[in-house]
Amino acid sequence: MEKKNIDWANLGFGYMKTDKRFVSNYKNGAWDEGVLTEDDTITISECAGVLQYAQTIFEGLKAYTTEKGQIVIFRPDLNAERLEQSAQRLEMPVYPKDKFVEAVAATVKANDAYVPPYGTGATLYIRPYMFGSNPVIGVKPADEYQFRVFTTPVGPYFKGGIKPLTIKISDFDRAAPHGTGHIKAGLNYAMSLHAIVTAHKEGFDENMYLDPATRTKVEETGGANFLFVTKDNKIVVPKSPSILPSITRRSLVYVAENYLGLEVEEREVFLSEVKDFAEAGLCGTAAVISPVGKIVDHGKEICFPSGMDSMGPITKKLYDTLTGIQMGRLEAPEGWIKVIE
Ligand SMILES: *Cc1c(COP(=O)(O)O)cnc(C)c1O
Repeated sequence: MEKKNIDWANLGFGYMKTDKRFVSNYKNGAWDEGVLTEDDTITISECAGVLQYAQTIFEGLKAYTTEKGQIVIFRPDLNAERLEQSAQRLEMPVYPKDKFVEAVAATVKANDAYVPPYGTGATLYIRPYMFGSNPVIGVKPADEYQFRVFTTPVGPYFKGGIKPLTIKISDFDRAAPHGTGHIKAGLNYAMSLHAIVTAHKEGFDENMYLDPATRTKVEETGGANFLFVTKDNKIVVPKSPSILPSITRRSLVYVAENYLGLEVEEREVFLSEVKDFAEAGLCGTAAVISPVGKIVDHGKEICFPSGMDSMGPITKKLYDTLTGIQMGRLEAPEGWIKVIE
C-alpha cells in the first residue's frame, strides 16, 4: 500500500474525504449486511427523522501506526458498547457490537493509505454514526436507520507545542439530571454551540459545565471529561450520571492505578475545591489529555501551579504512558489494541 501524498504534520482537524466508507441500512426490523462504498453522499427524505427530531448518535475513535508499523485501533469494543447505550436511550436499533468492530476495521483497512505514518503525530479519525432515515412527522422514533463509518486524517493535536487551556465556568447548562448527558448524541452538541461560540468570543478555549440542579459540582466540557491531580498526587475524576463516559478518561484511570501506582478517586467534585488541585486536564480521543492552566469563574481566576506553559508532571506521565501504550512503545493491557490486518 502506498501512502497518500499528504503533509501529515501540518494537517488540522478538518474533514478530508477518503476513498471508502461503510454503510448499513436498517429496515423491517433488521440490519442488512452493509457495504464499503465510494459514495460519500446521502440521499434521504426531506422529512427524515434525523432532520426533524435529531434522532442521531455517533462515536469517535482513531487509527494510527505503531512503532512497529502496524495499523491499530484503540478499544473499539468500548465505542461499540457506548453506541449501543446511546441507541437504547434514543429508541434506535442497536448495531451489533461485533459487527461494529468489524465495520470499523474494514473501513480503516479500505483507507489504509490515509493512516498517517508513525512519528508524524497525525492519526486517522474514525466516525461511526447512526440516524433515523425514513419520514417522521408525528413525534416518534423512525422505523428505518442508516449506520455509517467514515474516516478522515487529522493532524497532531499539540501542533506548535502544548498550550494549557483557559476555561470559563459556563452560565449555560449541558445536561439535565436524568437527561441525555451520558450518551453521545448530536443533540448534546447542537445545544452546546451557542455556549462555545460565546466562550470563544470572550477569549476562552472551553466551557466548564456545572451540574444544573445545584450549580456547585463539576460535570465536564462540551466534548471532554475533567481529570484533576491533588497536591499529594492523587487522581480525582468527577462522578455524575450526566457525564459522557469518556473511554480516554477510563483508560487514564486504569493507567494511573496499574502503571503509575497512583490512587484514584471517582467522586463528586465541588467547584469550591478546584482551587486546591495541583493539575487539571481534559480527557478525550482528540488530545488524549490536554492540560488546563486556568479556570475563570465570573472574573475570579483559579490558576493551577502547573502554569500556562507546560503540562503538569502527573498529567505528562499519564499522557506519555497512555500514548506509549497506543503507539506500541509500552505493553498494552489485554484487549486494548486491535490490529488491522
Ligand atoms: C466523546 C466525548 C468525550 C470523550 O470521550 P472519549 O471516548 O474519550 O473520546 C467526552 N465528553 C463528551 C461530551 C463527549 O461527547
